[in-house]
Amino acid sequence: MKIEVKHNRICAGAFLVCMALIIVYLSGIFLSQRVEEQLYPSAGLSETKMLSDYYPDLKGSPVDTEVYIFRGKKPGASMLVLGNTHPTEPSAIVSTTIVLENAMVEEGTLYVIPRVNKSAMSHTDPQDATPLGIHIDTPNGQRYFRVGSRMTNPVHQWPDPDIYYHNAGQLLTGKETRNVDRTYPGRTDGNLTEKICYGIVELIKAEKIDMTIDTHEGPPEYPTIDVMIAHQNAMELAGTTALNLSLEDVEIRVDASPVNLHGFSHRELGDHTDTMAVLVETVNPVMGRLAGKKSEELMLEGRDKFYQYASENSDRLYTEYTAEGKPLNLRVARHVETIMQLAASYNEMDTGKRLEITGVPTYAEIMENGMGQYLGGK
Ligand SMILES: [Zn+2]
Repeated sequence: MKIEVKHNRICAGAFLVCMALIIVYLSGIFLSQRVEEQLYPSAGLSETKMLSDYYPDLKGSPVDTEVYIFRGKKPGASMLVLGNTHPTEPSAIVSTTIVLENAMVEEGTLYVIPRVNKSAMSHTDPQDATPLGIHIDTPNGQRYFRVGSRMTNPVHQWPDPDIYYHNAGQLLTGKETRNVDRTYPGRTDGNLTEKICYGIVELIKAEKIDMTIDTHEGPPEYPTIDVMIAHQNAMELAGTTALNLSLEDVEIRVDASPVNLHGFSHRELGDHTDTMAVLVETVNPVMGRLAGKKSEELMLEGRDKFYQYASENSDRLYTEYTAEGKPLNLRVARHVETIMQLAASYNEMDTGKRLEITGVPTYAEIMENGMGQYLGGK
C-alpha cells in the first residue's frame, strides 16, 4: 500500500514537471510573435516618422507604427504604400518590404507603412493552424517574416461587441471592429483599430498624399483576387495601370469600389480625403477553405492539389489553378510591379506633378532572380 502511494506521487510529480515544461515552451512561441523583425530601408530613406506624429493619441499604444519617408530631389506627387493591414497575407508583407528596401525617389515623395496593424502581427488566428511565419533566403542570409492574424490582438482590444456599428450606418459581425480594412475612416472616440485608421487619414490629409495603395491577398474561391479595387476618383489611374501591366505580362482586373460598402480603404480614404485610393489583391491558397495542410511550404510554393482539382473540375474558382500553383514569388512580383506601375501611370495623367521612383525590381526581375535577391540585410 505504502509503495503504491509513493509510486503515485512520483507519477504526479513527473506529470506536473512535464506540464510546466510544455507551458514554458509554448509561452516562448506565444511571446515570440511579439518580436519585431529588423527592416533595412534603402539608402534613399529621408526620414522615419511615427503614425503618432500625425495623431498623437497613438503614442505609446501597441499600434503606433513607423512611417518611412523617401523624398526626391525635386518635389512632385506623393504615394503611400500600406503593408500588413492584414498580417495573414505574406505577398503584401514581402512586397512592401521590397519597396521599402530598394526605392530611390528622384522626384516626388514615397511614404511606406510596412506594419499598418502591429497588434494583429503579435498573435495568430486560433484554430486555423497556419504557420507562424515564413523564411526567405537572401544573399545576406535568411530573413524571417511573421504571419499574424487578420485582426487586432484581443489582448489590446477587448471585448468585441455583438454587432459592429460603423459610423456610416453599416452593421457587421462584432469581431470586425478589430479589422483595419473595415474601420476606415476611423474616429477619435473609437477603439484602437479605428484609431489606426484615423491616424492614416490624418497622415494623408497632412501630407496631401496623391495616391494610397493598400496591399492584400485573398483565397482562390473569392472574387476579389488578381484585382485592383479603385475608388471612383482613382478609376483613370487604375485603368491606365491595368493596361500598362498587361504590357509586362501581368493580367489584372479593375473593380469599382462599391459606393455603399463602408469601412474599406478603397472607399473611405477616397471619400474622406483627396487621395486616389486603390486596394490590390493577389491569390493565396493558405487563406482558403479548400487548402490542404497549411504549411510554410504551401505559403511559399503555393502548390495545392485540392485547389488544382477544384480548378480542373469546376468553374467555382476565380483563378485558374494549375500544378504550378501560386508561388509567393509570383504574388510578390505582381504586387511590386503593380505598385510601380501605379506610380508610372500617374505620370501619364494630366496633373502637373510627377513621381519618379527607381531601384525597385520589375516583375520580370523578381520572377527571374527570386524575391530574396531584393531583400536587404546586414
Ligand atoms: Zn486583406
